[in-house]
Amino acid sequence: MDEHAAATGPVPFTADDFAARRARAAEVGRAAGLAGLLMTPGPDLMYLTGYAPVAITERITMLVIPVTGDPTMIVPKLERPDAKNAVGAAGLQLVDWSDGSDPYEATGRLLAGTGRYAISDSAWAMHVLGLQVELPQSSYVSLTSGLPMLRAIKDAAEVERLAAAAAAADRAYEEILQVRFAGRRETEVAADLAGLLRRFGHSQVDFTVVGSGPNGANPHHEIGERVIEDGDMVVLDFGGLKYGYGSDTTRTVHVGEPTDEEREVHEIVCRAQQAGCDAVQPGIECQDVDRAARAVITEAGFGEFFIHRTGHGIGITTPEPPYMVEGETQPVRPGMCFSVEPGIYLPGRFGVRIEDIVTVLPDGSGRRLNQTPHEMKLVS
Ligand code: ZN
Ligand code: ZN
Ligand code: ZN
Repeated sequence: MDEHAAATGPVPFTADDFAARRARAAEVGRAAGLAGLLMTPGPDLMYLTGYAPVAITERITMLVIPVTGDPTMIVPKLERPDAKNAVGAAGLQLVDWSDGSDPYEATGRLLAGTGRYAISDSAWAMHVLGLQVELPQSSYVSLTSGLPMLRAIKDAAEVERLAAAAAAADRAYEEILQVRFAGRRETEVAADLAGLLRRFGHSQVDFTVVGSGPNGANPHHEIGERVIEDGDMVVLDFGGLKYGYGSDTTRTVHVGEPTDEEREVHEIVCRAQQAGCDAVQPGIECQDVDRAARAVITEAGFGEFFIHRTGHGIGITTPEPPYMVEGETQPVRPGMCFSVEPGIYLPGRFGVRIEDIVTVLPDGSGRRLNQTPHEMKLVS
């Protein structure tokens, strides 16, 4: 790793970068027939302004992006200095409201009064209801259902951050192969993984799945007090945030010598994961990635044991659209970043999953951001 880059991090996004994102958001909103976009604190507000309030309270903060005209962010008066500091000057007007006044009246003035608005998934119901009372002619749709692809296409600076997060997760994986598994609890190995992610620059660890033996057959198992034994298959799925962008990778290791059946199941998942990655190119539908991976597992006779979608998008949140799942007809496009993570889960026995983050380059080729080998590593 470039130690200089590790110390300084990537060039921060500028006020102009956020202004460009807002302009693009207005454009896709217009194309979708919306009157505007409404963001409350959370990932979408962060993505479009760089602003993440320290505490999210019942006082409304909302970015209003009309599809024509200038965006405005309304904030509680007492938070105005923080907000101003965070968003800089570029093209974003700030207004405030004071305790004792009607925040929905003030926010409603920023909306056209009619039309359909896409609003952050996590907006508080009290805010949506307040606006509905204020503007009975307007209607609301969640951002994920109205504009699912808003954050799906990453620019080069975002892909660079995702690549840095993936490289850090890869280093954590290489190091975890050296630790003792047999005789230790899943929680202990998970703590090792979390420490490694932080050591390689993660500011936040979101999950450290250690699914040993039969626990690996439950994709939702995270960690428990089970003591890992010689002969266990162990699913390791871990990630968090580095430079504000996510990592998420899975490898399945084995403690000591595996059986022929364990080798075979692992090998099938490897081939399925490769087939999913090979399918990635612009113009195919997201469901085609799922179909390509699933076909390998089904043909090998394990179809009923692959019990989840093949992948999900990743960015400042994980998971996020696009989803690599049957029925998702969104086209794969350059700049998308998502996981390819097929698995086979044999109830009561063991599970195998392999996951890489993949991106689609501007020239249309696919690129894995995770680069550690897929082959089954034997640990002690
Ligand atoms: Zn075994
Ligand atoms: Zn994962
Ligand atoms: Zn994942």
